[in-house]
Amino acid sequence: MSSKDKTNSSDVREDRVVTTVEGAPLNEPFATQRVGKHGPLLLQDASLIESLAHFNRERIPERNPHAHGSGAFGYFEVTDDITDVCGSGMFSKVGKRTRCLTRFSTVGGEKGSADTARDPRGFSTKFYTEEGNLDWVYNNTPIFFIRDPSKFPHFIHTQKRNPQTNLKDANMFWDFLTTPENQVCVHQMLILFSDRGTPASYRHMNGYSGHTYKWSNKKGDWHYVQVHLKTNQGIKNLTNEEAVKLAGENPDCCQQDLFESIAKGEAPSWTVYIQTMTEAQAAKQPFSVFDLTKVWPQDEFPLRRVGKLVLNENPLNYFAQVEQAAFAPSNTVPYQEASADPVLQSRLFAYADAHRYRLGPNFNQIPVNCPYASRFFNPAIRDGAMNVNGNFGSEPNYLAQSNKYTYLQRDRPIQQHQEIWNGPAVPYHWATSPGDVDFYQARNLYQKVLAKQPGQQRNLAHNIGVHVAGARPDIQERVLAMFARVDKKLAADIKKEIRLASAPKAKL
Ligand code: NDP
Repeated sequence: MSSKDKTNSSDVREDRVVTTVEGAPLNEPFATQRVGKHGPLLLQDASLIESLAHFNRERIPERNPHAHGSGAFGYFEVTDDITDVCGSGMFSKVGKRTRCLTRFSTVGGEKGSADTARDPRGFSTKFYTEEGNLDWVYNNTPIFFIRDPSKFPHFIHTQKRNPQTNLKDANMFWDFLTTPENQVCVHQMLILFSDRGTPASYRHMNGYSGHTYKWSNKKGDWHYVQVHLKTNQGIKNLTNEEAVKLAGENPDCCQQDLFESIAKGEAPSWTVYIQTMTEAQAAKQPFSVFDLTKVWPQDEFPLRRVGKLVLNENPLNYFAQVEQAAFAPSNTVPYQEASADPVLQSRLFAYADAHRYRLGPNFNQIPVNCPYASRFFNPAIRDGAMNVNGNFGSEPNYLAQSNKYTYLQRDRPIQQHQEIWNGPAVPYHWATSPGDVDFYQARNLYQKVLAKQPGQQRNLAHNIGVHVAGARPDIQERVLAMFARVDKKLAADIKKEIRLASAPKAKL
């Protein structure tokens, strides 16, 4: 009896005939080979064994930070000429489109955690350019908690579970961040605990490079650059209480919103802007341009429009195209370089390394990560687990400038007039800056920006208060002292909120 005969449908296609993993027809997918009717199973039932063994291996390690995410494909389109700033092919002419994949994520939670957690959101985009894959591995916040990469694993651990109780732990979180030398976090803490810390959906939030990059034009002139992607759907946030409620009622609300909007033909889009700064301007700033806890004031460094990012295509398969997507700031193209920001420099190593661990050394060969608009040719990068690209066939396994094996080397343009670094190689502690430098931008946000948005100063104090209420009293004191350096009223309001949140609740 053929497999066709076993279906009720008359229009079954040949390519839907079920097979073994080796491609032979699978006779009985729902039967097991046994001795007689009720006797033991037989080891010779290879399809059962394959099915059980493969099931045991379905899960791959989740990302450590950014485990939980959603993604979609789309395109970037140039709307404004910036060739005076950047010579990359993707910006070569107005109207040019480049296919891309964007993945949004939360940071601290596990893969099944709620979309509405109070957390920064990852906003990573892979551009499949003709000059190779370019990844913008950004967040929905223009700054970050730390500026020294030696603190990164410690900081992320404080967002994870207590090693003993296996619970999220407000003491760990606030203890680390209010330690005096870690209070550079204060600016990011204001954004995290404002309502922007709980975006209503991925479509309703901005993306920012956060880091300073170095872009150059074809003449070799370079600028420091920061990138902003502003949502065209408008900013929309949840209050703390709405976020908590949704975490119970529909924890996948942002995944659902993104997928369903695109499926309905309502493709979300972002307008892309850059800020540029010269080396001379950077030298005059009261902060270092390599300090990830600072923004560039927009009146001095106005936003310049570049293009738009449109997400109009849902993935066909989440695991293949989103879970296996490997974004890394080290994936860059000619004319876009990393700056000396030490957190960015450490990410240049850490992201690709995380993918080698999570997906294997040949993760670039997984279709979603292949530079399909360009090509990969380097037969000295070879072998390793899961090599599936033919391994460059009979090409020699080394590169050498000999007559026999000549390889074409195309110059990658080097930016001219590079910064010159010198100094002793010493352990350097980038501790709190002198005076008010690490606090005044947070104060600007509180006193100038949030003050103009009705209810936002109050929500900030409330959101901090209900969280800090779970921490020890001595840590609460440190929290109040830190926010008092931003604004005394903010600290007083947080104190009231802690008291309210700590008051005994009436029994239901
Ligand atoms: P501006 O008045 O020129 O810029 C204010 C910026 O604040 C806007 O660009 C807007 O960014 C952002 N903003 C508006 N509402 C909120 C909110 N609820 N939470 C966080 N950010 C918000 O002043 P400055 O450039 O001097 O910046 C003042 C403060 O604004 C900074 O200290 C920083 O905290 C924050 N900010 C600044 C950004 C910058 O690039 N300069 C970018 C984002 C925030 P957007 O339109 O991108 O939402």
